Order: sequence, then structure tokens, then C-alpha cells
Amino acid sequence: MNDLQFQLDMAQSVIQHLDSKEKMYQLVCSTSRNAFIYVDFLKKSLSVLGNRSSFFDFTISNESDLIKIIETVEDGYKNDLQKLLFFERTHKENDSLECKLEGKDKWLEFECTIIYQDGSPIEKVVRIRDISKSKKQNEELQYMAYYDTLTGLYNRNYFVRVLSEWIRNAESDNESIAVMCLDFDDFKKINDGLGLVAGDELVQSFGLFIRDMLDDRMIAAHVNDDTFYMAIKNPIGNHSVDYIFTQVLKRLEKPFRLLGGHEIYITLCAGVAEYPETATNSLELINCAEVVMFRAKELGTNQLKYFEAPIYKDFLDNVNLENRLKEAISMNRFVLYYQPQYDSKSGDLRGVEALIRWKDENGKMISPGCFIPLAEKSGLIVPIGSWVLEEGIKKYAEWRKKYDCNMVLSLNISALQYKRQDFVNNLFDLLEKYQVNPKDIELEITESVLIDDFDQVVEKLHVIKDYGIKISLDDFGTGFSSLSYLKGLPIDTLKIDKSFIDTVIDDESTQVITESIVSMVKKLGYETVAEGVETEEQFEYLKKIECDNIQGFLLGKPMPEEELVSLMEHNG
Ligand code: C2E
Ligand code: CA
Ligand code: CA
Repeated sequence: MNDLQFQLDMAQSVIQHLDSKEKMYQLVCSTSRNAFIYVDFLKKSLSVLGNRSSFFDFTISNESDLIKIIETVEDGYKNDLQKLLFFERTHKENDSLECKLEGKDKWLEFECTIIYQDGSPIEKVVRIRDISKSKKQNEELQYMAYYDTLTGLYNRNYFVRVLSEWIRNAESDNESIAVMCLDFDDFKKINDGLGLVAGDELVQSFGLFIRDMLDDRMIAAHVNDDTFYMAIKNPIGNHSVDYIFTQVLKRLEKPFRLLGGHEIYITLCAGVAEYPETATNSLELINCAEVVMFRAKELGTNQLKYFEAPIYKDFLDNVNLENRLKEAISMNRFVLYYQPQYDSKSGDLRGVEALIRWKDENGKMISPGCFIPLAEKSGLIVPIGSWVLEEGIKKYAEWRKKYDCNMVLSLNISALQYKRQDFVNNLFDLLEKYQVNPKDIELEITESVLIDDFDQVVEKLHVIKDYGIKISLDDFGTGFSSLSYLKGLPIDTLKIDKSFIDTVIDDESTQVITESIVSMVKKLGYETVAEGVETEEQFEYLKKIECDNIQGFLLGKPMPEEELVSLMEHNG
């Protein structure tokens, strides 16, 4: 009896133990956010555990119910899921499958484990997991890897990838491909004027327009601020580049309406390179299209230009020049020449203008006209300009000490250099360092400096002028010159451009303009300097109309320091 009681107690304790284990497993399963289908092949039974209610709204109590699960997934997954859920896949111990649910934005993962004994399956567990969230994240990541989020067009990398694939196929299929690079004109002005958000909105609207144009023979990418690429397979008929560009221009005839109510008109330029004529690999094609796009911009707005070999050669030459210029900066291969300016009445030396020269490896002097434009385009003007400032001021301090000269040193300042935040402080520091009186220094700026942010530019001019430095407006008459805006400018001197002086003797209307400039400037209290005076006749005329100062080959060409020094010794 005792023995029986003992066995009963044992059995009960085992049952209790099993109960609590079962509860534990149930709890673990139901809180795991997964559902499990457990199949016992020997007992031919099936049970579902875990969080099944969040997966199915039907009961699964035997094998045939598994059909119901298969019916919930999209057609493309049905076959594989059937194989996984039913017992055909006995060759694999582990298997998993991701399925999208029919008509829902939901993904399930089915992971199957089969337990074998002596080569035969005895048990199987299918774990079902909701992977919608990670799928979505993956999709977003993939989208970001391939697409530009602002416009929904391809990004640069993906464009290159697809274009490369197109080129590979084009080789065997004898197809041609055109790559077009499109870039808005003056986008910076739009961005500066309306703000970055409006700029983005504009780019987005244009991107959507491009997207609507696409079909299976075209791809497009938004690659940075306002630059788009398009590639067109077999560009003929209404897929020809000319036709597509005309469609784009038609769209640009109408404004883009932005959310803030602004209506913006834009213009753009495009460059085209073609496979296989221009290049046979995607990066080179894109590169060439970009280079011609910049050339198109030089022709004006809304221009389309096709690749021509000489354009690329120019580009490479420029690259070469840029590299040489960089080297010249690091090797300090520049010198300053000085051109005198004289008072037209007294004939006294009023001052000198410092003009840069690049002494190349062979000692040849390269004139600034050959490299200043490139230096401005590439930003190299900033280090070059800093060198000019320091060199000029340093030399001026030496002359002042030696020759006690009483003259002004004029220094040319580029827009990019002037715009820099540290420009004013650096300038003041240099005057301090070399102990030069600010009133002996004159900065020559051109109207291009004034184009950007007029108020800010003028504010800076005031700071410079208040410090005592003179400001001269260079090349007057060549830009958007208008006498009316001169009034508000804190300047001291105005330089009448050589183009006026060239024709002033023979052309009556130039005479009228020149005379009105001189008299108006006088009324405003500024000094005048006439540039490029080459003949006695010009000199006499300018003196007669009371132009204050004369600069030009007639009185002195730009000269090296030694020559200027001997001139000062002579005068002194
Ligand atoms: P710019 O400031 O208008 O300088 C006057 C230019 O006209 C100089 O050319 C000068 O040599 C030339 N010139 C003066 N008188 C006559 C004349 O009677 N007849 C003729 N045919 N030409 C005359 P340069 O030295 O070749 O300089 C060209 C331009 O390069 C300058 O025009 C200026 O815009 C720029 N530049 C020169 N040095 C610098 C510099 O240090 N910094 C910056 N940012 N630009 C500079
Ligand atoms: Ca000048
Ligand atoms: Ca000038």
C-alpha cells in the first residue's frame, strides 16, 4: 500500500512538474510574438502554439487546415509555402521562407525545423514570425540606396549602374545611347533669393516633370542641387535628344508654382554625350556630358550642346592649367608688376596699380588674363589674392621707408576673395603688421563684387572705408554700370574702362557718356582714373574734361619693382 501510495505521489509530482513545464512553455510561446505549428509525425497530430491570434483569424487543428494559411499569401509564394508546410521537403532539416500576405502590407516568415530519427522525420516545428517592420526598413534602405528621396528619380550611383548595364547590352544589340546632363541656370540666385526649402520644392517639381517623361527607353537621376542626368536608348524620333530637350523647354515656358505662392520661371542648359561615338563607358559618358553642359552655359540660357572632341581637349587643358597653377602657388612663382597713375593736371605720380604676373618654369611671364579667369572659377584666386595683398603691402612699406614716397598702392580684389569672412580682418592685420597707413592703400573692386548681396557688400565696404582704406570701382562701364546706384556706394575712386578711352576720340556718343560720367562722379565727390590711355590725343582730351588721373601705356606700362624703384629715385 505504501509502495502504491509512493508511486501515486511520484506520478502526481511528475504530473505537477510537467504541468508547470507546459505552462512555462505556453507562456514563453505566447509571449514570444511568434506562432508555432508543431507536427508529430508518429502520432500524426498537429497543434498550434504561441501568439497565433495575431496571425490567423481561423483555427488550425489538423493538416488540412494548413491550406487556409497558404490561401492568405500572394500567389507567387503559394507553391513554396505549400512545400514548406506540407511534408515534402524532407531533404532539408531547416528551411525558411518569406511571404507577403495577399492584399495586405504584411510579411510573414515561416521557419521550419524537422527532427529526424534513423533517417525518418518524426517531428516538425514551423515558426511563424511577422517581419513586416524589418522588411519595410529594408525596403526604405534599398530605396535610399537607389533613389533620390527628393524627386523619386534614381540617384547618381544607381544611374551609373543601370547605364553600365545598358551599355553592356547595347554592345551586343548594336544599340546607341545618349546621356544628357541638365543643369538649371543661376540656381544659386533662386536658392539665395527664396531660401533652400523653395529651391528644393522647385527641384522636386522639375524632377516630377522629368519622371513623367520616362518610359522603358529612358532613365533619369537627380544627382545634386540642380543637376539631372538622363539616358535615352536608341535616341531617334520622339526619343531623340532634340525632341526631348524641346519638350523640356516647352515646360519651362510656364512657371513652376511653389507652395508659398511664388511662381518661378527657370532656364537650364544641357550637354549631351553619346554611346558609342563619344565614349564606351558610363562614367566617361557622364563626364563628357557634364563638360559640354558647362560649355553650353557659356553660350547663354536654355542651350543644348552636343559633345565635340575639341571641347574635351579644352577641358583637359584647363585641368592641366589648374594643376600648374596649384604648383605655381605652392612654389611661389608669382611676381607683382606696377603701373603708374598720374595726376592729369600736375603730372605728379598719384599711385601705382599692382598687377600680378606668373613667372613660369622657363622664366616666361604669363599675363593674368590667361589664368585669373580660371583661378576665379576654381577658387584658387583666394590663395593668389592673399599673396598679392601681403606682397603689395610689404613692398609698399619698404618703399615708404626708403623713398618717403607719397602715393597710393592700388590692389585688385576678386569677388570671391572679397566675400570671404576673414577678408577684412586679414587686411587690417597686414596693415598693422607692416605698419602701413590705411589711407595709402586702395582696393580695386569690380561690379561683380556688388552683384551678390548688395546690402552686405556695401556694409563691408563701409567697414573698410571707415578704417581709412580707399575703395575704387574698377572697369566702370563694362558691367551693369548705372550711374544711379553709384550714389549709395562708399567709394573714393572710379576707373573709366579702357573700352571708353579706345573710342572716345572718334565716337561722339562715347564722348557724351564719358563726359557725363566724369561730371557726375565729380559731383558725387569721387576721383576719376582713366585706364588704357595710349595716345597724346586721348590724354589731352581727358585732361580737358577734367578727368583727375591718367593710367596707360602712354605714361607707363606695368613694370617690375626695380624699374619702379628707379622711377621713384628719379622723382624723389
Ligand atoms: P585691370 O585691373 O583692368 O588692369 C588693367 C589692365 O590693363 C592691365 O592688364 C594693364 O596692363 C592693362 N593696361 C593698362 N594700360 C594699358 C594701355 O594703355 N593699353 C593696353 N592695351 N593695356 C593697358 P594686366 O596686367 O594684363 O591685367 C589684366 C587683368 O587681370 C586686370 O585688369 C585685372 O582684372 C586682373 N588682375 C591683374 N592683377 C590682379 C590681381 O592681383 N588680382 C586680381 N584679382 N586680378 C588681377
Ligand atoms: Ca584694376
Ligand atoms: Ca580696370
